[in-house]
Amino acid sequence: MKKNWLYILYILLLLGNILPAKGHTCITDKDFVLVIDAGHGGHDPGAIGRISKEKNINLNVALKLGKLVEENCPDVKVIYTRQRDVFIPLDRRAQIANDAKADLFISIHTNSLAQNRTVKGASTWTLGLAKSQANLEVAQRENAVILYENDYKTRYAGFNPNSAESYIIFEFMQDKYMEQSVHLASLVQKQFRHTCKRHDRGVHQAGFLVLKASAMPSILIELGFISTPEEERYLNSQDGINTLALGIYQAFCTYKQEQKARRGDANSGNRSSFSPQKAPNAVPASAQPKEEGKKTVNGRPVFKIQICTSAELLKSNDYRLKGLKGVEHYQEGGLYKYTYGASEDYNAIVRLRRDVIGKFKDAFIIAFRNGQKTDVNQAIRDFKKNNSSN
Ligand SMILES: [Zn+2]
Repeated sequence: MKKNWLYILYILLLLGNILPAKGHTCITDKDFVLVIDAGHGGHDPGAIGRISKEKNINLNVALKLGKLVEENCPDVKVIYTRQRDVFIPLDRRAQIANDAKADLFISIHTNSLAQNRTVKGASTWTLGLAKSQANLEVAQRENAVILYENDYKTRYAGFNPNSAESYIIFEFMQDKYMEQSVHLASLVQKQFRHTCKRHDRGVHQAGFLVLKASAMPSILIELGFISTPEEERYLNSQDGINTLALGIYQAFCTYKQEQKARRGDANSGNRSSFSPQKAPNAVPASAQPKEEGKKTVNGRPVFKIQICTSAELLKSNDYRLKGLKGVEHYQEGGLYKYTYGASEDYNAIVRLRRDVIGKFKDAFIIAFRNGQKTDVNQAIRDFKKNNSSN
């Protein structure tokens, strides 16, 4: 009797130890979750070429990429939004990534141009406001897939993929994963150039719904032009599929290694420690110094307000700067970061921030020392100390 009871206790303890762990196995035993999204599928063919459909090219490269990662990166869990020719709504693709708490989302597409059948090359896109009509058209074409969904008006809150006005939502958006996304995009383009010998059409930004809905660094790749016969043949060849997948795979490896190194450096589990809009840069509520009208001296931190970031250099009259005069910029992580105001008086910058927050709701204070960006919290502490000791 007693022996039975002990046996049951032993089983219960065992279950208690094992079951919760087992329940999480598919997420926690992998360091990194990669979602690979083959664009289009099912009754949505994507762009149509002379001998092929975009949906199949995307799937071939997606599966090959996933295979390379699965075979060579045991610490990475690969999740596909689709592994066969089925229709997946656009928001569902992002939801799959969000539900999996993915570290990275790579969407694979193939470009097409109706008139020009000679244009060639690969491009990689991140979320942002399109700089040109041509860039906007790429996003419009990809977003138009939601028209295949009956209830797209409700599901996408009235978003009309074909109306330029709908894209205003991308103007006031702050993407905290922008820096990582742009960095990965440039790594992919570098691989396309060197490993794949493709014509480099660069890294661009535009308002892709699928990227907007995914809460992690994310990129959308346009492998090439299905509308250009020479490229279409390449995109459908085994060599083309293998080489393009290899290029993306190598870029992914570099990205992941760099991120691991950064996480190691930071000695923390913060996946986004080098994201520009993260808390370390924000002004903590507890760091409000007392009001004091002290004269400033050289060698002390200079406070500025960061208002926005962009992958491309903006002209001073660019509408995204919303008419602010005297906007400056610095470069960090492959991005241009725009600042407003400059003062050694932290309080003056706090007041100035109140003036611009209506236009730039995510504006935050940063600090420079001897022209180099420095830890803002330390700078605030220095400011308070200098003010109280005089
Ligand atoms: Zn597409």
